[in-house]
Amino acid sequence: MKKLFIMLLIISLGAVSCKKESCENPFYCDWDTPFEVPPFDKIKFEHFKPAYLKGMEEQMAEVDAIINNPEEPTFDNTVRAMQFTGELLTKVQRAMGPLSGANTNDSIQALQRDMSPLFSKHRDDISLNEKLFERVKSVYENRDRFDLTPEESKLLEDEYLGFIRSGIGLSPEDKDKLRKLNSEQSLLSLKFGQNLLAETNSFTLVIDNEQDLSGLPEGVREQAAGAAKTKDMDGKWLFTMHNPSYIPFMTYADNRELREKMFRGYMMRGNNGNENDNNQILADLIRLRVIRAKLLGYESHADFVLERNMAKEPETVLNFLAQIWEAALPVAKAEAAAQQELIDREGGKFKLEPWDWFYYTEKIRKEKYDLSDEETRPYFSVKSVTDGMFYVANKLYGLEFSERNDIPLYHPDVKTFEVKRDDKHLGILMIDYHPRASKRGGAWCSGLRPQRLDEDGKFETPLVSMVTNFTPPSGDTPSLLTPDEASTLFHEFGHALHNLLSNTEYTSGVSRDFVELPSQIMEHWVFEPEVLKVYAKHYQTGEVIPDTLIEKIEKAGKFNAGFTTVEYLAASSLDMEYHSLTEPVEINISEFEKKAMEKYGLIKEIIPRYRSTYFNHIIGGYSAGYYSYIWCEQLDADAYKAFKETGDIFNHEVAARFEKEILASKGSKDELEMWIAFRGREPGIEALLENRGLLKQ
Ligand SMILES: [Zn+2]
Repeated sequence: MKKLFIMLLIISLGAVSCKKESCENPFYCDWDTPFEVPPFDKIKFEHFKPAYLKGMEEQMAEVDAIINNPEEPTFDNTVRAMQFTGELLTKVQRAMGPLSGANTNDSIQALQRDMSPLFSKHRDDISLNEKLFERVKSVYENRDRFDLTPEESKLLEDEYLGFIRSGIGLSPEDKDKLRKLNSEQSLLSLKFGQNLLAETNSFTLVIDNEQDLSGLPEGVREQAAGAAKTKDMDGKWLFTMHNPSYIPFMTYADNRELREKMFRGYMMRGNNGNENDNNQILADLIRLRVIRAKLLGYESHADFVLERNMAKEPETVLNFLAQIWEAALPVAKAEAAAQQELIDREGGKFKLEPWDWFYYTEKIRKEKYDLSDEETRPYFSVKSVTDGMFYVANKLYGLEFSERNDIPLYHPDVKTFEVKRDDKHLGILMIDYHPRASKRGGAWCSGLRPQRLDEDGKFETPLVSMVTNFTPPSGDTPSLLTPDEASTLFHEFGHALHNLLSNTEYTSGVSRDFVELPSQIMEHWVFEPEVLKVYAKHYQTGEVIPDTLIEKIEKAGKFNAGFTTVEYLAASSLDMEYHSLTEPVEINISEFEKKAMEKYGLIKEIIPRYRSTYFNHIIGGYSAGYYSYIWCEQLDADAYKAFKETGDIFNHEVAARFEKEILASKGSKDELEMWIAFRGREPGIEALLENRGLLKQ
């Protein structure tokens, strides 16, 4: 209690001592906002650059102080001390993160391009610093002397290997080469993403003849009319490449020519030979990655990446993917045949093409299960689904969520919740639901401030942000989600829970092929009948979703699994093919993609979920890592089975074990070790195949 009082005193003194003049740049001051959320209302664009520069300078001075410490290197004065360098830089990055991803503009994009080489140099100045490495190496080699906790041992090993993997062992000449490669790669990556955003925004389909809307549900038409209105095209309908517009169009539009037009717009993004073309950028990136891997002593980029993942080796991944491919391809072929049969039955004189898949799948779904997204939408308002996921987190982990309106936001659309357990503050959760031009596509969750103990051992609570691109509200109709969107919300919320329930001393990264376990396991609860009955209520009448509809959802759950598995595996395999190259050859992206897909025997009616020129995952952190989602699915399906086996999907004992061994241990232990501590054995593939309905009968 006394300690708390002193702490409060220090905090309030800190606030008082921060004079107005010195606070001209909010990054240089303590943040007196609730829960020290970045003061987005006070941070202006011009504050970023000087704070970035100062932040890097400060961190280098702190690193120098560690290097020049006359004492013998110890865990505390070296590895632990490193954890607390760069606090100012981190502060700036925390504020920039949500802006660059979800509220960007030309100035922010230009600043990022300007800063990118400087960041890359700054990172290299630390990760290629000989003197710092000497100290870390000394601690690593003498680690038995320091009486380290298991978490500290893992952190030490991560840091040590991090140096090795950054090229610390290279000759000065090769180090220069590496720096140049790193900096070139970050610029190329940035340009790829910016091109993709421009391409996604630039293709639109404007319809002025109402007949061309045939098949489209009322809600979709309203959206499109609203979108046209904002572009001064009253009386017309505007469709875009953003998923909430693209997918319904492909699913319902009777006009086959227009579907083809939309499809081609979508699948040609970044491949139009204009100033936003991504072909050469990707080819260069892949070539530079091979050069880099070779320089560091690895066979390929995939070997380099996988060393630090749960899968460890490319072989393991390829074998794993092949097993699922074998089970899924025949199912996808049967789905295509069923669609062709329907086309023929309807008297259509054409062969099924990729732009027909969504449309005929929907027809068959309707025929077989009498279920359409439009029928379920009214029960999945964004508010209901949010209530649903909060309910699940409450039943499993005892968490309580309450909306706060006193927290600075990076955009007025963001909703903010305080998270508590037994009345104790656990963290802050921000949710940003709907698309806008300043936001990149997709859905993601980031720990704006990860949980850890600060330098004085005080528990720092997490600040978590979830961003999605869901169907926006329209007129008097609130945002009504498709089942897919509802599932995505639960998924991102799973990442949020991983951050919120983390209970470690330090902040450590989680392997790509493990990090989707906490998120994907949440998707198992979203359509459980007993959960649906709690949250899925009609947005107008409040009526609970009827049993007949729940039954239909259950039955239709595994429908189209051949397609979803195959299009995903195709993209995963493409990723592995690019990054398994062992020579830095000049490749032609279109040809490479075509050949790779022929090798796997992908049928022509399906294209990879992401084609190369808009495969942003492999530009960002998922290169040689897109397989991670299905790798994690073997874990989440198997983990969920642990709940099911008890006959209670909220089983307290299993939930407590999942929290302790998987969520709370975030990044602090070897993944396989964590898994076995939870499940008592190694993971198996059966639960995954069963989950997707791909188990041979
Ligand atoms: Zn995820």
